[in-house]
Amino acid sequence: MSESPAPLPAYDWPALLPGWVWLCGAGPGDPGLLTLHGLNALRQADAVVYDALVEPAILDWARADAEIIYAGKRGGRPSVKQADISLRLVALAQAGKRVLRLKGGDPFVFGRGGEEAQTLIQHGIPIRIIPGISAGIGGLAYAGIPVTHRDINQAVTFVTGHDQAGEAPGSLDWAALARGSQVLVIYMGMIHAPQIAAKLMDAGRPADEPVAIVTQATTPRQRVLETTLARMVDDLARADMEPPGIICVGRAVLMRQVLDWQGMIAGDPPRSLDPLHPARG
Ligand code: SAH
Repeated sequence: MSESPAPLPAYDWPALLPGWVWLCGAGPGDPGLLTLHGLNALRQADAVVYDALVEPAILDWARADAEIIYAGKRGGRPSVKQADISLRLVALAQAGKRVLRLKGGDPFVFGRGGEEAQTLIQHGIPIRIIPGISAGIGGLAYAGIPVTHRDINQAVTFVTGHDQAGEAPGSLDWAALARGSQVLVIYMGMIHAPQIAAKLMDAGRPADEPVAIVTQATTPRQRVLETTLARMVDDLARADMEPPGIICVGRAVLMRQVLDWQGMIAGDPPRSLDPLHPARG
């Protein structure tokens, strides 16, 4: 929280006006993954309402006199009710504050951003949406896993491992998912990993299908577990990894053998140069 922060690059930055709420994605962790629109918002906001998944270092870029308000929820057990958060935003805006609602990843990807935005509009509060880098794309990229690759998949499916009640998503057609999407990216899936693995194998995905679990992605605490559908539950139990975590199912995971750029920075050579064609590699 320096006195006079470095100016933003020259651009026609929008002004956050009193009575407005901007809903902004903070990205998955690494503060450098916040967008410039996000930084522009932080520089102006009187009140910043943030989630548990927002990396605290990002809040240091708020104005020194900004009111910083925690509205966390974790693991499907709400510690603050969604309706209370939305109404808090309404109240702050109605009090004439310039409000920034900062959410982990992208606000419109499994983040209830749509619900909050809807409530604000229903109360006549003007809004702006600032997208963010979602954990299921950016977090996997930090693990060296591309969510699409021409030799692997023509589709990628983002799935939530929780429904509204916090249960494994019984309403999902796992057979259709298993058949229809070569790569599945599962948010909020760690608690229900056993059911998810079983449902995918029941639906015909091979037991030796590659799986990666990436926890605390893009932070210095990032960990990556490479496993298979059959082994993932035991491996996860042994690995003692802290949520939040993304589960990626599919051959995209193999690409990490060549693309683990963080490992390379740390001095580890690639394990393979052509993991999709090991005979050639
Ligand atoms: N809006 C967020 C997702 C919120 S749902 C986004 O776009 O990324 C919360 C889930 O996101 C977590 O259960 C986890 O599956 C995933 N997640 C968020 N941040 C993460 C991180 N840094 N590393 C791994 N998974 C993360």
